[in-house]
Amino acid sequence: DSVFSHVVRAPEDPILGVTVAYNKDPSPLKLNLGVGAYRTEEGKPLVLNVVRKAEQQLVNDRSRVKEYLPIVGLAEFNKLSAKLILGADSPAIRENRVTTVQCLSGTGSLRVGAEFLARHYHQRTIYIPQPTWGNHPKVFTLAGLSVKSYRYYDPATRGLNFQGLLEDLGSAPAGAIVLLHACAHNPTGVDPTLQQWERIRQLMRSKGLLPFFDSAYQGFASGSLDSDAQSVRMFVADGGECFIAQSYAKNLGLYGERVGALSIVCKTADVAGRVESQVKLVIRPMYSNPPIHGASIVAAILRDRDLFNEWTFELKAMADRIISMRQKLFDALRARGTPGDWSHIIKQIGMFTFTGLNPQQVAFMTKDYHIYMTSDGRISMAGLSSKTVPHLADAIHAAVT
Ligand code: PLP
Repeated sequence: DSVFSHVVRAPEDPILGVTVAYNKDPSPLKLNLGVGAYRTEEGKPLVLNVVRKAEQQLVNDRSRVKEYLPIVGLAEFNKLSAKLILGADSPAIRENRVTTVQCLSGTGSLRVGAEFLARHYHQRTIYIPQPTWGNHPKVFTLAGLSVKSYRYYDPATRGLNFQGLLEDLGSAPAGAIVLLHACAHNPTGVDPTLQQWERIRQLMRSKGLLPFFDSAYQGFASGSLDSDAQSVRMFVADGGECFIAQSYAKNLGLYGERVGALSIVCKTADVAGRVESQVKLVIRPMYSNPPIHGASIVAAILRDRDLFNEWTFELKAMADRIISMRQKLFDALRARGTPGDWSHIIKQIGMFTFTGLNPQQVAFMTKDYHIYMTSDGRISMAGLSSKTVPHLADAIHAAVT
């Protein structure tokens, strides 16, 4: 008898499990709108041309070796990542008060930041938006933080519950950590306006709340790397402290390379140095040091003006294709006379549309139309193409009538 006979089968991950179910479906009509990964018009995964070029450079460079990186990762990658999110002219960078460490994509950056906070920050409560990416509560709880939520989405307007957000952050204990999606909020596609961000910033600073930005979609929301970083830059410009987890999974299509960065903006260079020394103590016993390949690709692109420009074009093309899918789906529902107001499809931002479909309607669409999505009605617009829009529109129409 196995010493593990008592182990019960765990449920599939609510997001990645959608793909597991999709893979088992033999229907030629099947459509996976579950996972947040970009697909071309042909429904294929995309490796950016600029990534292929950077990889070619790496392969051709015979001086490259496979030695371990330092605990904090590739120094040049870290410097360039901070510049990308904070802006090339950021005073915080100039004043050496930012410490950046290479981590395992966005998830790993969130986890390392949270582990550091659980050990060294006086207030171990983190407020996350309601709803948020399903992995957030698990990452923060396992890191040792206590998770609470703040109101964010209003189902009635399919927009931001700004009043509720201000009330909840206003009554959070002084010093509490607040998780903010830098742009393209997942799963709702609803972002605060710049004016609303400014109100949030004032409120948070007045109460000493600590911002922890999750930046998983820089460049994907608007097509512009700078526009999508505005929320973060607003909080850094006031001289206050903050945490930022960056992912290159979506904007460079480096999903499986697991490349990301954690930046901690501190008040002084001296504090930043001490903070970094402690972050290293978090990382060393967890995975020792990060992988070299993905970070080398990113550094090659960010350091070279031509490659960087080429990237911005490819990024804009991905963002534009997603935006055009929003319009196509909206038009298709309109053409069918589908009951309801579907304008949120074109108003929402980023990779996902939060359709407002309920779990029963989602289950119906999966069973009768072989369309796979998370049960909260979130669909990945990046998984859609001109060819598949009519099938999705038919399914939504049937689900709501
Ligand atoms: N944060 C948000 C909001 C996300 O949507 C994702 C990915 O779906 C991540 C973080 C982390 O992604 P990764 O660890 O692949 O960079």
